[in-house]
Amino acid sequence: MPADSTTTDSAGGHDLSSSSSSTLTEAHPPLALRPDVGFIDRLAELAGDSFLSCYQCGTCSVVCPFSPQGTHLPRQEMLFAQWGLENELLSSPNLWICTTCGNCARLCPREVDIPGTISAARDLYVASRDIPRELATAFENTSRQGNPLGHSARKRADWAGNAGVDVPVMAKLGRSVDILFFTECYWSYHPRGMQAAQAMARMMSALGVDWAILGVEERCVADSQRLAGEIGLFEEAAQKNIEVLGKYSFKRLVTPDPHAYNALRNLYPSYGGSYQVQHYTQFLAELIPSMSLGPIPQRTVTFHDPCYLGRHNGEFEAPRRLLEAIPGISLVEMGHCRADGYCCGGGGGGMWNSSFVAEQVDERLAEVRIKEAVGTGADVLAVCCPFEVSLFEDAAKSTGNDDKIVVRDIIELLDESLKLH
Ligand code: SF4
Ligand code: SF4
Repeated sequence: MPADSTTTDSAGGHDLSSSSSSTLTEAHPPLALRPDVGFIDRLAELAGDSFLSCYQCGTCSVVCPFSPQGTHLPRQEMLFAQWGLENELLSSPNLWICTTCGNCARLCPREVDIPGTISAARDLYVASRDIPRELATAFENTSRQGNPLGHSARKRADWAGNAGVDVPVMAKLGRSVDILFFTECYWSYHPRGMQAAQAMARMMSALGVDWAILGVEERCVADSQRLAGEIGLFEEAAQKNIEVLGKYSFKRLVTPDPHAYNALRNLYPSYGGSYQVQHYTQFLAELIPSMSLGPIPQRTVTFHDPCYLGRHNGEFEAPRRLLEAIPGISLVEMGHCRADGYCCGGGGGGMWNSSFVAEQVDERLAEVRIKEAVGTGADVLAVCCPFEVSLFEDAAKSTGNDDKIVVRDIIELLDESLKLH
């Protein structure tokens, strides 16, 4: 404020009442920003209006796994959303590096649905602009083949041929079952995922579970595609999956994919599909007393909590109970664990957007995490999300740690123990 714009009262204070409003306006011109109410409404229609409550405390940015890389994610994006700054929000590269891991929302004092707001902004982006090429390919593959990897829909159950045990398929069985196993895409097609699926089949057989898969009738649940902005693709997949599931009778739906678990459990009911849903670790943890597990060679294991099993759905114990049930394993925790678990980088579409993310950050989240795992002294990093095996195996190689630690799905460790009984 200019020195001559105020007068001094008898007490020596500043008499602001004598300043003219025009002088104040000249000294502090109003910001050129005006909320774009139309954009705010469109965003709020998709995400709810919790972003309007943000008061820019910055807590979210401190706990975001990208924070050390100076991204300002997600406080900056919540500001853009709140002000209806469409171009600033939709042009922000942060929009595409967020994995929707949810650590920010966990601690936000205003309970802003940050992942939901980011996903809604992506949905508005996808409707009007070109998305990163890798992501577009995953979307196209999901639409055409029912899986983001782009493999033939007809080969969805080929993994079962090498399981070494019978894998019943609902359409051929012609009766109700206790457990319908929703295999999802990475256990159906990815080489490391297929090994895990085969291990699961052997465990089901050893336990005498009455189970079956949908086989070629199953298609991607597409929850990660939804979070990456393709809500339409998710809804189309939900409609088709619910139609197929409606043909069969089963008591429980069990899946190895925390992202599918999240959608089947929390979103499918609003589309007309209500089931009793479990992640495979929850299902198997109930059966620990029936498992005949032999001692595996002594190993120190650390466990990575999947964001969509742990933080988003509150399951932290079942995977740990399974690991602790295997003779020969001693479990050590990483600093970031349970609700404060660190993201692998694969969620929210990150699995199919690695080139774009690599251009924006110095280090991939999986690389940061594998170093944390090695730092515990563990020789095994145990996981239970189908995205994580390949992400962490790649990260172990790229950080030069592949001679120090191996990555195993929990079902692979159980299978090994089962064989040694
Ligand atoms: S923690 Fe919540 S209130 Fe604070 S800046 Fe982030 S979104 Fe806004
Ligand atoms: S959801 Fe995870 S990656 Fe996205 S802004 Fe929040 S903490 Fe960061």
